[in-house]
Amino acid sequence: MHDVKHDTLTKGPAATSLRRALSILGDPWTMLILKDAFNGTKRFSDFQRDLNIPRQTLSLRLTALTQDEMMYRRIATPGGSARDYLLTPKAFDLRDAMYAIWLWHQVNPGHSDILRFDLVHRDCGHVLGATYRCTSCRGTATSDRVDIRRTQPEQFETEPRPRIARRNDNSFTAATSTVSGTIAATLVGDMPCNEILYLLFQGPEHAQAIAHDLGLGINVVRDRLEKLKELDLVQEEAEGRRLVYSVLPRAEGFFPLLLAIADWGDRWCNKTNPPPDIRVHDCGAILRPRYACDHCGDWIGRNAIDVRMRPTP
Ligand SMILES: [Zn+2]
Ligand SMILES: [Zn+2]
Repeated sequence: MHDVKHDTLTKGPAATSLRRALSILGDPWTMLILKDAFNGTKRFSDFQRDLNIPRQTLSLRLTALTQDEMMYRRIATPGGSARDYLLTPKAFDLRDAMYAIWLWHQVNPGHSDILRFDLVHRDCGHVLGATYRCTSCRGTATSDRVDIRRTQPEQFETEPRPRIARRNDNSFTAATSTVSGTIAATLVGDMPCNEILYLLFQGPEHAQAIAHDLGLGINVVRDRLEKLKELDLVQEEAEGRRLVYSVLPRAEGFFPLLLAIADWGDRWCNKTNPPPDIRVHDCGAILRPRYACDHCGDWIGRNAIDVRMRPTP
């Protein structure tokens, strides 16, 4: 049993687990490239065709992914000049987040028009239905059962965010308009949207409090709250003279996704520091979440999933 005292909880723009992970993933094109790579794409020209992404943008993102040790380059054919871009173990460790994206699109079929494949649990042969669970008690890791606590006040983020500034090229709009139907991936690619959702899962807030808590500009917060409202993920209610924002049931599908990314951030983006926030399950254990198959109940392990293309109608 882990005793995490509430009095260590801090407010302010802290270096949360999520933020660390999003400093790599918080770009819509990056998420779409990774998603495509998880589906088996390797070649520059294939990424370009699949995602309809400008050549220069793709080149920059693949370079960044290589520098971040998410991908590595390999000569495609002996003697040839073509290169394959392959995922590293660090990237493969994001698989829970990728399952979460896929599962979200499964239950929100209005946006799943671009999913041309099924994920099949190899051991039991069923198309994946899976639930994110606490590995300690097997209970579901839903937002009402997980307490997110910041415990490392010394890890406040003081550096600017050069990566995000460099990528400030309106790619959120570009990606969402050119690749319709990839809502989950493009939302993950937008850092403020994720951080706002992550915060609202911890309780309703008004816009000023969100801006203060996350260290974001009020206009950025208002803009993202509008987007989240349009997507039916967040609702706005008057409380006295203030507007208060809270998550809608449809947003719950994003909770495992955010948890999976935060968890990955703790493993790969945190060097030797302790995790900047701790997620505690209602059984009392520090949450180590994993997906379990809804059909056979087994934990979904590495290499346990087959990608099966759907026949084209
Ligand atoms: Zn538990
Ligand atoms: Zn199964």
